[in-house]
Order: sequence, then C-alpha cells, then structure tokens
Amino acid sequence: MPERFKTVLLFGAPGAGKGTQGKILGKIPGFFHLACGDVFRSLDMTSELGKQFLSYSSRGELVPDELTVQMWRENMHAHTVLSLFKPKQDLLILDGIPRNVKQAEALKSSIDVLKVIHLRCTDESAMMLRMRRRALKENRMDDADERVIRHRFDVYHAETHPVLDFYPPATVANIDAMGSPAQVFQRVLEVVIPVQDAHFNRPPS
Ligand code: AMP
Repeated sequence: MPERFKTVLLFGAPGAGKGTQGKILGKIPGFFHLACGDVFRSLDMTSELGKQFLSYSSRGELVPDELTVQMWRENMHAHTVLSLFKPKQDLLILDGIPRNVKQAEALKSSIDVLKVIHLRCTDESAMMLRMRRRALKENRMDDADERVIRHRFDVYHAETHPVLDFYPPATVANIDAMGSPAQVFQRVLEVVIPVQDAHFNRPPS
C-alpha cells in the first residue's frame, strides 16, 4: 500500500469557519490546505462535472460520493506531482471532506487521520449570519438562500456529523469556533503544532 498522507481534518457545520482557518493555516510552511468545496468551485461550470456540482450545491445537497472521491484523488495527485503538496514535509489539512461515512471509508487507504479538529458552534444563527456575509462577498448561491442554508444544516446533522464517530475518540479535538478568526486560530494551532512536531522533522528555517 502506498504511504498514506498524514492528515488533519477540519470539521464542522457550514459557517463554522473551516475555510477561514484552513486558508490561514495553509499559508504556513509545512501545512497544505485543500478545501473540497473550493476544488468544486474552481471547475469549469460548463463541463459535465461542473454542471453536476452546480445542480447539487444549489440545492444544498452533497455531490455523489463516487464523483467527489474521484475528483479529490485526481486533485491530490496533481498537487503532489507538481510538488505543491510534499507528503514527506507537509501535513495535509483537509476541509470539507470526508462529508459522510462512505467517503471516510473510501479515503481510508489514502489518508492517515492524525487529528480531527471539530470546530463547534452551538449558535446556528451566528453561523447563518457568517454564511450570508460570505454569500455577498464570494458570490455563493448556496449561501444566499435561507432554505438552502437550512437544508445544508440538515444534511450536516444527518450525514456529516456521524463521521466524528468513525474516528477514535482520542483523535477528535473539540474547539470552540466562536470568537475572532485570530482567537479561533490560536486554539487550532494548539492542536496542530504538536501533531506536526510528532510526525515531521522540520529543519530550522
Ligand atoms: P463547502 O464549500 O465545503 O461548503 O461545499 C459547497 C458544496 O460543495 C456542498 O454543499 C456540496 O454540494 C459540495 N461539496 C463540497 N465538498 C463535498 C463533499 N466532500 N462531498 C459531497 N459534496 C461536497
């Protein structure tokens, strides 16, 4: 079996701040951030896969697992071949995948999940506000419509949240997602730095 990517999952409900935290982390040497939703959004929307993505995401539904996992594999392969992601040096920060237990099963042979950072936010209205702001800023249709947002939460509770039980309890780090991006980032760093220290011998920069 080829060596699995050493991985930390950024996990949480829509609007919990996974993308914000992942983007900051991805700027630091030794971390490689990949958001499944960003990969989908970068597709040519006139291509077959682009059209499929639009038809599901505009309803707040998940894209079918087989398409998603295949696209994820191809994307990881491309990043690795181009040395944008260096598996021996970089901790992979995955955001938005796996989104259900079937995807978690499918990714098992490819990723070694060292930690799951569960960004917890019990205030759904705060998350909805973040999503509406994001819709305006990033022109995201799926975050503009109240019904679609509500459905995204339903899908999260029914399909995505159970992924937490797929991994050993000690792997899951619950982090309070309320506060400024910098405050939450401090909490995220407290979890990921020990993982990086334990698994990578980084030369002094
Ligand atoms: P996100 O940016 O992570 O909120 O994802 C936006 C949309 O992309 C989701 O509502 C889904 O339609 C689709 N999507 C992103 N990641 C996945 C995934 N792992 N599995 C299925 N669909 C996904």
